[in-house]
Amino acid sequence: MKTRAVVLRGVSTARPYSDTRPVEVEELELGAPREGEVLVRIAAASLCHSDLSVVNGDRVRPLPMALGHEAVGVVQDTGPGVSRVRPGDHVALVFVPSCGFCADCAAGRPALCAQAAAANGSGALLHGSSLLTDASGAPVHHQLGVSAFSEHAVLAQESVVPIPKDIPFAVASMFGCAVLTGAGAVINTAALRPGQSTVVYGLGGVGLSAVLGARAAGAYPIIAVDPVREKRELALQLGATHACAPGEAIEEIRELTGGGSELAVEAVGSPEVMAQCLTAVARGGKVVSVGLPA
Ligand SMILES: [Zn+2]
Ligand SMILES: [Zn+2]
Repeated sequence: MKTRAVVLRGVSTARPYSDTRPVEVEELELGAPREGEVLVRIAAASLCHSDLSVVNGDRVRPLPMALGHEAVGVVQDTGPGVSRVRPGDHVALVFVPSCGFCADCAAGRPALCAQAAAANGSGALLHGSSLLTDASGAPVHHQLGVSAFSEHAVLAQESVVPIPKDIPFAVASMFGCAVLTGAGAVINTAALRPGQSTVVYGLGGVGLSAVLGARAAGAYPIIAVDPVREKRELALQLGATHACAPGEAIEEIRELTGGGSELAVEAVGSPEVMAQCLTAVARGGKVVSVGLPA
């Protein structure tokens, strides 16, 4: 079938991208779902900083590539052997699939699945090579097994998670990356316990999701740090108990926590902010590095 998709053919650092337009909307041919694969109509997709890191070459990926990895959709069709979803299901798209059988998957660390990492790195799908071709018949790579800036996508069934149908699509798309990255860092990686103090540096989609995760885990205080006042105000609405700018953060954190935070989450990808996180935590505290530096 045909699908219109956002395709990157060469990295570009010339900003602003609104003027230099490093990507094109192209009509591509999308192959039918194979064994273990599903066809999804994309309902909403959001832009993540990691998309821009492919555009500017910080994340080196095979090109041309159909971009987009944070999205939600509705299952249209399934290939043979698909048991997890059926047509009509609403699904969050997952940019780190997992085979479910390798040593890392068996050890409860599916994000480390080597088979999935190899597929993602080569721009293929978990169960086979690219299903996208351009007008000349040349293959176009998938981004992280998803390629969601498109009308339709085919994904491995391990790349989709069914979600309740009453979640609005624009909200649900955030579950494709920001929520699992930010909330996962707090709840799974840090294993935050109720009452533990938490500071989150960087209040984009991932950092705000870390604030939500800290709130869900019962953290106190939850201190949100960002230079932009509007983002700090949003963090306070979402469950942060305090918010401050980076310049005053260390003093504020020490005062609010009695010397240092038990957890600091770095959601910026900046060496300077990582250093400040190490200063912000108490003895025996944890720093979880989530942001992707170049
Ligand atoms: Zn992302
Ligand atoms: Zn695996």
